[in-house]
Amino acid sequence: MRNQIGRLGRLLGVDKGPAILFPYPKLVKIPPGTRILVLAPHPDDDVLGCGGTLVKHVAAGASVSVVYLTDGRKGDPTFPSEESLVLERQKEARAACALLGIEKLEFLGIHDQALQATPDIVAKVRRIVKEDNPDLIYLPSFLDNHRDHFETNRILAQAGKGQSESIRVAAYETWTPLTAPNIVVDITDSIGIKENAIRCHKTQSKVIDFLWAFRGLNAYRAAFVRLTGFAEAFMFMQLDEYTATMRQFERRARRKAYVPISIDNQK
Ligand SMILES: [Zn+2]
Repeated sequence: MRNQIGRLGRLLGVDKGPAILFPYPKLVKIPPGTRILVLAPHPDDDVLGCGGTLVKHVAAGASVSVVYLTDGRKGDPTFPSEESLVLERQKEARAACALLGIEKLEFLGIHDQALQATPDIVAKVRRIVKEDNPDLIYLPSFLDNHRDHFETNRILAQAGKGQSESIRVAAYETWTPLTAPNIVVDITDSIGIKENAIRCHKTQSKVIDFLWAFRGLNAYRAAFVRLTGFAEAFMFMQLDEYTATMRQFERRARRKAYVPISIDNQK
């Protein structure tokens, strides 16, 4: 049984407790950390996944920096050109981060939908981790359904190798809600700022109504820890544990590709 469930199951406690598969997430005031690094595959993932929590880190006096790995050029095919969209999304990201209280932004400029854990990009992220010396890194969960988001996990797994053992990871949810978050942060007091920051991402909000989607997701996360406001959920682990879990998932996913059943003849 234990072997079948594997590391993720053991970490999440699937094999314990009679009635629930995963322990309920713990409501925390704020994840521990004073030097925060946020990895965002695209300009907007930071705000959507952990914007409300970042406001709380800034208020608590933490240093927060955001690294955008790709340039987001594929985010709006109706835009006049990819180059102009890249510049517009940088402007949007700066405006959104200003609202959150974050001044340190870095754009690595990899083409959107082409992110890969190449030696060059791994070296860049490794340099950033060394310089920033973070004790807490936010990134999209490795279960988030977007290739650039998964590659961000592969990049950190390599860039974080041999780095400080005290680094923790808080994996956020954007394209795919987390199945088993283990912590939830009350963002009721900062949801207003988060929503204004989402509004800054006009090009993306035109494609998907993120304001509506994340108000719903954050309300849902709050309700399940008996809050009446809003909350953000995370998979919170030591970096080495998180990396090992991601690697196990990657090996299994590669062995058995997910093939959706086609549903024909539906009227
Ligand atoms: Zn993204």
